[in-house]
Amino acid sequence: MEKMIIVGTGCSGLTAAIYAARANFAPLVLEGHEPGGQLSTTTLVENFPGFPEGIDGPALIMNMKSQAERFGARFEYATLSEFEKAGDHLRVKVDDRWIDTQTLVIASGASAKWLGLAREKELVGHGLTSCATCDGAFYRNVPVCVVGGGDSACEEANFLTRFASKVYLIHRRDSLRASKIMADRTLANPKIEVLWNSIPVEYLSDSEGEMRAIKLQNSSSGEISELEVKCVFVAIGHTPNTIPFRGKLDMDSDGYLLQNNGTHTNISGVFACGDVADRTYRQAITAAGQGCAAALDAERYLSHHP
Ligand code: NAP
Repeated sequence: MEKMIIVGTGCSGLTAAIYAARANFAPLVLEGHEPGGQLSTTTLVENFPGFPEGIDGPALIMNMKSQAERFGARFEYATLSEFEKAGDHLRVKVDDRWIDTQTLVIASGASAKWLGLAREKELVGHGLTSCATCDGAFYRNVPVCVVGGGDSACEEANFLTRFASKVYLIHRRDSLRASKIMADRTLANPKIEVLWNSIPVEYLSDSEGEMRAIKLQNSSSGEISELEVKCVFVAIGHTPNTIPFRGKLDMDSDGYLLQNNGTHTNISGVFACGDVADRTYRQAITAAGQGCAAALDAERYLSHHP
């Protein structure tokens, strides 16, 4: 019987792991299908307190992980696929085996959304991606585009100017959703051109199946145009990773887990933290704060249910 299983190794899961490990629970932490969460695919994090010069997302994650390991957290490259209440405890299916646990902290985060256009799946890896940090360096001195108008899209567009000859930012409206500092930085970057009121309608590939261009429709005039790019970076937000919990835990219409009384879910002993339950703030620091709260809530729960 485990005392605590933590699902996810983004900012919230790792902070929960640090707190739970320091409380001597030796939590079992499941890395899931995107180890390190969204920070592991981001560039410089400038707004995490304590790093006046900023810190690379992957470095921040590695620091948190080694901090948790130092206090006894155990990490496994495994994914939770099912979960059930079993009397006074919980059972989770991890890869092919069932594990009993007294508490479960869900910090499974959120995954990138895609546009839903034809042939999207087959083009991923052939000039279509959702991760500028992973794939940006492959597109040196060629034009690329980023789809989206939020902080992620702006951040990716700025990052890609290090490699690409030109970066088009394709946004479906006439103003950016991104925070002012990020929007200003993007609009001032001479290598970025924003294509306003532009909706992607089709990916166009060359004879070798690599991205050649993207077809856009102007939302005001209806006019269709083709933009020659070697890679399309999609940055239009995320979907919470809650499939294994459907029908068991309360969630909103978009699948975000609902919390009550702190990080408690509707099943006792199960706690939710970070982007899997937060559709409002979704920052590294708020995710970390929630991970701390979830570990403390779980610790209190364990002290009342020895
Ligand atoms: P977001 O804020 O939800 O923005 C998504 C963008 O994609 C919006 O501009 C949206 O357009 C557009 N979009 C959504 N669906 C679309 C579709 N089907 N077709 C075309 N465009 C579509 O997501 P995000 O940029 O990933 O940011 C998420 C959260 O993380 C935010 O709270 C953000 O502040 C935070 N974040 C912070 C930083 C930082 O502080 N350094 C960096 C990255 C992210 P509309 O504007 O028309 O809705």
